[in-house]
Amino acid sequence: MRRLHGRSVSAGIVIANVALVQERPLPTIGNACSADTPESELARLDNAITQTQRQITKLRTKLEALPEEGREEIGALLDVYERMLGHSRLIRTARARIAKDRLTAEAAVQQESETLAALAGPKPNTPEEEREAAARRAGEFREIARRLLRNLTGVSFRAFSNLPVGCILAAEQLRPADAALIDPTRIAAVLSEGGGATDHTAIMLRALNVPAVLAVTDLTSAVQDGDLLIVDGARGEIVVNPDPATLAEAQAAMAAEAQERKGISRLRRLPARLTGGEDIELLANVELPAELPLLRRNGAQGIGLLRSEFLFDEDREWPDEMAQYAVYAGIVRGMDGLPTTIRVLDWGGEKGLERLRMLGYAAAEDGGNPALGMRGLRLLLHHPEILLTQFSAILRASMDGPVRVLLPMVTATNEIVTARELFEKAARRLRRKGVKLPSRLPPLGIMVETPAAAMTADALVQHADFLAIGTNDLTMYTLAVDRAMTMDSDLYSPLHPAVLRLIATTVNAALRGHRPVCVCGELAADPHAVALLIGMGLRSFSMTASALPPVKKLIRALSLEECDTLRRQAMLADDPPNLRAVVRNFRG
Ligand code: PEP
Ligand code: MG
Repeated sequence: MRRLHGRSVSAGIVIANVALVQERPLPTIGNACSADTPESELARLDNAITQTQRQITKLRTKLEALPEEGREEIGALLDVYERMLGHSRLIRTARARIAKDRLTAEAAVQQESETLAALAGPKPNTPEEEREAAARRAGEFREIARRLLRNLTGVSFRAFSNLPVGCILAAEQLRPADAALIDPTRIAAVLSEGGGATDHTAIMLRALNVPAVLAVTDLTSAVQDGDLLIVDGARGEIVVNPDPATLAEAQAAMAAEAQERKGISRLRRLPARLTGGEDIELLANVELPAELPLLRRNGAQGIGLLRSEFLFDEDREWPDEMAQYAVYAGIVRGMDGLPTTIRVLDWGGEKGLERLRMLGYAAAEDGGNPALGMRGLRLLLHHPEILLTQFSAILRASMDGPVRVLLPMVTATNEIVTARELFEKAARRLRRKGVKLPSRLPPLGIMVETPAAAMTADALVQHADFLAIGTNDLTMYTLAVDRAMTMDSDLYSPLHPAVLRLIATTVNAALRGHRPVCVCGELAADPHAVALLIGMGLRSFSMTASALPPVKKLIRALSLEECDTLRRQAMLADDPPNLRAVVRNFRG
């Protein structure tokens, strides 16, 4: 028996035999010059492009069978691939090199894709999440090159269709397009040695709802085809050839999970109500429209945080007002009358780095720290044209259903005042153009995610229509620990007395100022922490959609008195380990 660990990507416990899927290697390509004429190499490249385009079209037809969440994610990726096969830099330069340097089509494609992947790929000393986004972009170049090279050399692609039903698929690398070929009714779980928790493959697997662990160290050397495995997707743990006791334990956990899943579908229609009758609002955090079905399935009462910075492809031209409107309106309409809170662009930190670069801000590799300084609202106020366009698009979408607007990274009242002036200016301009808007503009709220905002919340509430506490950044900026920190996960924990006090200060200011307040950081996805936050006066939470059922389940079993007792105990804990223990041990 051996235990392996990787990154948890999609929850679920599975016991099954593993099918190790290997890819036939490509022949070495190197710096080969062609013995043939450039014309014949160019013709070979054209053939390979046509063949690859055909394969991508075929892949698109398979999307129909995927759940809607997966369809959107992979569809967008196939668009990227198709663009790369068109008049892209990759193809243009590969052609030029065939003609000028007399390279073979294979060498030209490989060299140019590697150059582009290196340019796009992660640089040393960058934060992990940024590295993942860059690795994702680099992966797109490599994937299209891999497809072209397989077609040029005639080395076939691997297929998943002949794998035994109910097996666990394990591979060294799993590409997003591979993930699209996975039939969740036939594959019980997915493991790979490469990959991160937030890349396209991971998003796909989550959307498909297949238990998955990626970035598993030593996976392909530790596992033999046919081995019996226990996969715990939530923990990111794999047991290879378990002993009888471990197997029995996993079987019991699986049965409990199945029971819990049944309970979840029953829970969906029930209110999130404490035993004493007090209602709690449960909303969802959303990054992509593809998440809407899960959010509805899990009974979200609205979107508490739409992270707009993730809605638009960084590699494409920045969408204008109407293009943005189309996306916002689609989501607002999809919510069927439930509220949608759209946060304006929060570029900075690990997000939107390409855009920051284009706006002239120092890249992380140039020594600039995108988490500090020009981030979120501050950045937008330096580029009011970007904010005005986004406000206008959101205002238009507010005719399609209830919308609230959220400002990220606020640190002072003057920022809110200026943002509101721009918000009203955008509304005036639209009305002058004859665009119909609601008679009362949507509420304009603020994220409280810096110590500065929390400490001055009493002043900020005078200018904000509602508050959303972002515990992810609040923790990072309070504790001086990068939120992407993986070395010692206890160092980055919102359950720290300092963070708790800042939350308490914010909640008290909001309650005194009669402003709605919610928590929308990851802390809201932890049911025990939610109990504590209810004790602190919070009644609204926004979280990743998959966390809604367990949070609701606990809420329905809780009384306000219990939450208050937990709060008192938590406030007495004077160091992070004690505080974490109090919260973890709540209810035994
Ligand atoms: C937060 O900081 O807690 C938050 C919700 O915003 P984001 O995670 O998008 O930075
Ligand atoms: Mg934040």
